[in-house]
Amino acid sequence: MQAICVHNFGGPEVMRLEEMPSLQPGSGQVVVRVKAAGVNPVDTYIRAGLYAAPPFPFTPGFDAAGEVEELGPGVSRVAVGQKVYTAGTLSGAYAQQTLCEEAQVHPLPLGISWAQGASLGIPYGIAYRALFQRARALPGETVLVHGASGGVGTAAIQLARAAGLRVIGTGGTPRGRELAAQQGAHQVLDHHAPAYMEEVLKLTGGRGVEIILEMLANVNLGKDLKVLAPGGRVVVIGSRGPVEIDPRDALSREGAILGALIFGATPQEYAGIHAALTAGLENGTLRPVIGRELPLAEAPKAHQKVLEPGAYGKIILVP
Ligand code: NAP
Repeated sequence: MQAICVHNFGGPEVMRLEEMPSLQPGSGQVVVRVKAAGVNPVDTYIRAGLYAAPPFPFTPGFDAAGEVEELGPGVSRVAVGQKVYTAGTLSGAYAQQTLCEEAQVHPLPLGISWAQGASLGIPYGIAYRALFQRARALPGETVLVHGASGGVGTAAIQLARAAGLRVIGTGGTPRGRELAAQQGAHQVLDHHAPAYMEEVLKLTGGRGVEIILEMLANVNLGKDLKVLAPGGRVVVIGSRGPVEIDPRDALSREGAILGALIFGATPQEYAGIHAALTAGLENGTLRPVIGRELPLAEAPKAHQKVLEPGAYGKIILVP
């Protein structure tokens, strides 16, 4: 089988498509024939050596969708031939086959494409965790999805709308803002416009928002705290450097700054996330948006694109 292999840390060019031995499942493990793999920013940080990585050579990627090919002893939740998505894998998702623990494999509901299945694990997982497990979002609250045009942002809009929240989204391009509106954001703002955070206050009658899901905290956290309603929560999902804040902004509102990390979910929380996502896929409220599909060999291009401005849903690799 073919897989993207990384033999040393570096730029996107260190990822090469290579012939690898077929995977064999051990006890409690599942081999999935990959039909689509999701590209996440964290894959680029790991490839570059900025985050903990598996031993070399490794295959990047956490999210895939495909058919169960082989089961190890003791697996009972899925069957050979079943359509599934993965949220985490043992061997990497950028490949024709991936090896998973049974708990990392989830049935893919009818009507969800392979590409959509490969968009779920990290983006929908963290959007759910940030909204409901960290911020404890309630119907009727207002959430600012600060970075609503990408994989996590579009997931967050759909999840928040399905739960009865009011959603203000931001995007950096007209196309990205149109996407956020199509996904259900009630109002959409341009996060490059000079006075857009004042608009957030105007849209909430001066009160501010109860929840902010923050995709780029190193740019926005200081501004976020100034548009938080009393008792509001900022959830930091993404950040690419340090930032200066005025702690009085949190103090005066009794606001909270919370971190959210998909890899921080306990097994029970993780099971809860995927039970909720399955329900949303089945009832039609969750529909991942695919911006671009590339052949597996173009993983280097996918890693360039996922870090460029002008996000539009998910980038997917097709083996
Ligand atoms: P993505 O698809 O590349 O989307 C990036 C988003 O950030 C886009 O909506 C982009 O908007 C927005 N953005 C760019 N500049 C911004 C600004 N100045 N203010 C607000 N938003 C801005 O990436 P993703 O998969 O959605 O991930 C988003 C972030 O969350 C990344 O940093 C990623 O590493 C992180 N993340 C963290 C976890 C976790 O476990 N904590 C899990 C998944 C992702 P435009 O392109 O329209 O400007």
